[in-house]
Amino acid sequence: MTPTGPTLAPAPGPHHGPGTGANAAPGFPGIFDPWQVHARDSAFIRARDGYLTTIRHDPDPPEYFAASDFHPGAYDRWLDHIWPAAGCTHPIRLGGQIHRIDPATGEILTTTPTSAMPDGVIYKACGNRRTSACPSCAETYRRDAFQLLRAGLVGGKGIPGHVSGHPAVFATFTAPSFGPVHTRPVRAHACASKAHCTCKPEPCHARRDTDTCPHGRKLACFTRHRRDDPRLGQPICPDCYDYAAAVVWNNSTGELWRRTKQAIERRLNQLARHRGLAYGVRVSHGKAAEYQVRGAVHFHVLLRLDGLDELDPARLLLPPPGITVADLEDATRHAAVTISYPTPPHPASPPGWLIAWGTELDVRVITMRGTGTVTDLMVASYLAKYSTKGTEVTGHTSARLTPATIELHADATGTHAERLIHACWKLGAHPDYRSLQRWAHMLGFGGHFLTKGRHYSVTFAALCAARITYRRTQDPGPEHGPIRVADHADEETTLILGHLTYAGTGWKTTGDALLASTAADQARKRHQAGNEELTGQYDTTTGRQAA
Ligand SMILES: [Zn+2]
Ligand SMILES: [Zn+2]
Ligand SMILES: [Zn+2]
Ligand SMILES: [Zn+2]
Repeated sequence: MTPTGPTLAPAPGPHHGPGTGANAAPGFPGIFDPWQVHARDSAFIRARDGYLTTIRHDPDPPEYFAASDFHPGAYDRWLDHIWPAAGCTHPIRLGGQIHRIDPATGEILTTTPTSAMPDGVIYKACGNRRTSACPSCAETYRRDAFQLLRAGLVGGKGIPGHVSGHPAVFATFTAPSFGPVHTRPVRAHACASKAHCTCKPEPCHARRDTDTCPHGRKLACFTRHRRDDPRLGQPICPDCYDYAAAVVWNNSTGELWRRTKQAIERRLNQLARHRGLAYGVRVSHGKAAEYQVRGAVHFHVLLRLDGLDELDPARLLLPPPGITVADLEDATRHAAVTISYPTPPHPASPPGWLIAWGTELDVRVITMRGTGTVTDLMVASYLAKYSTKGTEVTGHTSARLTPATIELHADATGTHAERLIHACWKLGAHPDYRSLQRWAHMLGFGGHFLTKGRHYSVTFAALCAARITYRRTQDPGPEHGPIRVADHADEETTLILGHLTYAGTGWKTTGDALLASTAADQARKRHQAGNEELTGQYDTTTGRQAA
């Protein structure tokens, strides 16, 4: 028996974490408060149905009784059933029938209605990429992203090991200025981690000779901003800030990146020809987008140099020895400062907007083994971390906006985020700029948060398949519908098909959410991969700073 509180002992035995982040992760208040879990709304009380046991509500705080005190094995059975979604904040509930089918004859061997299972449904994890939406599913995504990015640097998962000998750099491309914003400049960091910087900053915009802007504001700020100052990233004069250019830039970054990468490859291939090398090169990349507080996107990009076999472009080849990592670094810097292009004409800016990178550029050589400044592990974990974030840092999060909801989020004279969204909606009324309306909830950015070149590494789908295989060997019980339903791997001798319909979202009760979460959290703690926790080290070595 566990005496008190949320650390009940579910003893999930051999389970390894499904998503691994608990849905009760710290920093996400409002999901539920364990102390609010009452007996009458818990899975345990539904034990009267025969498959679980109970929580006693009094004394206060509630006291939890181990499952085995009442119905031996019942708790384990429930946990087994919900396990594929255990850490998920908003699992999808599916009801219907699950058939086991003989693949040779197509004959249905057995049919199990979900109504015969615990809770009458099967649970499928929501699969959301964003930590703010589902910590557990985002953690699964982050791990997949890490594996994918790492494989592209060191090989493995079907990628040849010689990629670790390819020159590679890690670059951060930023947005240009759209008007002065409050910042926290630090000359030389002495802190352990930039993410929790404690250094004394310089004044924000210390300019004594500045004229006032047309709106009567002095474009100066002598404040040494604290890290948590809500003014950081906000324009010093919102009326001067070029919101149109800011959102059009976010919206144009896909094309800007395409041109940049092309320019890098072109320059390196010119070099290769000039040096009389036997064959040319190709750049493979993995790229993560990150919102700055001011609402502009910037990109962390890993660029790996490959040799190019013109006759067999799919082949992953070592680059010719005459091209070095210094050439790759130089070509990257060169492209970042030279590439620009105009967007189509718009009534608000008849010549269009000129799209180019900002002047802040960081390019570092990636070393494969631990001693360099930036290692493969740091880079992979850094990119993977950003792949689970969205617009949260800008203070705005919403689903796709529609004419019915735009009023709630857009305001020409409102907050910084409201003005950005307003600009998206207004400019997006033009037929050539429709995607600004489509991506208004992303402040104009319509790209993926994690992208990779075709040849860079394995795919998410491949990693997902690997995980399904793993799970199948881990829990052979008959009722794991959510994962098995759509899963017909070759080695499977029995197909499992589901005729399932949507039965709802979320856990049935806060009690269930707590139980599932706690079990997943414990599994995660037993199973933690320490290697992936290196992003802090990267922050330390680069001195980069948010905002
Ligand atoms: Zn989820
Ligand atoms: Zn300031
Ligand atoms: Zn610092
Ligand atoms: Zn102004």
